[in-house]
Amino acid sequence: MNDLLRTIINAAGVPGYENEIAKILYDELKKTCREVSIDTFGNVIARKGKGKNKIMLAAHMDEVGFVVKHISKEGFLSFIKVGGIDDRVLPAQRVVIKAKKKDILGIIGTKPPHLLKDEERKQLLKYEDMFIDIGCKNKEEAEKAVSIGDAVLFEPNAGVLNGKLYYGKAIDDRVGCFALIEIMKKLSVDAEVYAVATVQEEVGLKGARTSSYKINPDFAIAIDTTIAGDTPSIRERESCLKLGSGVAITIIEASGRGLIVNERIRNLFVETAKKNRIPYQMDVIDGGMTDGAMIYMNREGIPTGVLSIPTRYIHSATGVFNIQDVECAITLALESLEMMAKW
Ligand SMILES: [Zn+2]
Repeated sequence: MNDLLRTIINAAGVPGYENEIAKILYDELKKTCREVSIDTFGNVIARKGKGKNKIMLAAHMDEVGFVVKHISKEGFLSFIKVGGIDDRVLPAQRVVIKAKKKDILGIIGTKPPHLLKDEERKQLLKYEDMFIDIGCKNKEEAEKAVSIGDAVLFEPNAGVLNGKLYYGKAIDDRVGCFALIEIMKKLSVDAEVYAVATVQEEVGLKGARTSSYKINPDFAIAIDTTIAGDTPSIRERESCLKLGSGVAITIIEASGRGLIVNERIRNLFVETAKKNRIPYQMDVIDGGMTDGAMIYMNREGIPTGVLSIPTRYIHSATGVFNIQDVECAITLALESLEMMAKW
């Protein structure tokens, strides 16, 4: 795995606590874009190129995580979830608490099944009944290490499966952030292109709302992850997206409550992919939204498309993706930007 990609995936960025990842993306974008800034809301905005059209690219830099809510007298931490995380993926996961002085390692603990009564065992375990164990013997000791309000994320674990597939925490949407950097590096079109690493997507597409209002682009492309369907227990009609089969062109999100793609942009993506022989798949999803859903209905409506990377085990401690799909997204975005510049 490329060092930059690994750094981006492993960096911390729970919604509202994106400083660490923002700094990395700011420094990377600064290498190829003359103008880079961090706005009031925390979005990193880079600008490159000149032309009659303004085009916005967006990828969110926040990741699903937790915040410390309470410290018990025995020294265990209660937490809230920030972003959609299924409680079933939490027990025994290693987490990192971004405490003021230094990072603190913790384990999400639960009552052992051996001690559960029959009825208890049938119930779904809820996050409210879990705790983070940081190895302290009491509240006083724990308070020296962490504070209420500290952000908590899954422990960084980026790596490679069978030499081909990449995995790590925060794949949603750090692969999109990586694509943004690569696109801006290679970009040379006659348009004013803005790359925005947005904040707080996982809690309501917030950074996309403020940044697209400010930029007021003519067109926009969001780059995000989507649900892969190529693992046991997912039927093909639930998701037919496969890792390694190319970039996913999103048509409709959350059964229409999210983005419904602009027809001109949808056709542009498909025609451009065909012309340039870029592998692609069509993505129609019942659940899940991207920054595109917010951008497309901001101001008087902004024509927007979404390019997605199929990802397994999204919103858990470890997602899995194929880097070739990311490369397809980068190429398709670059070729499409060239066409959009002429619109
Ligand atoms: Zn996402």
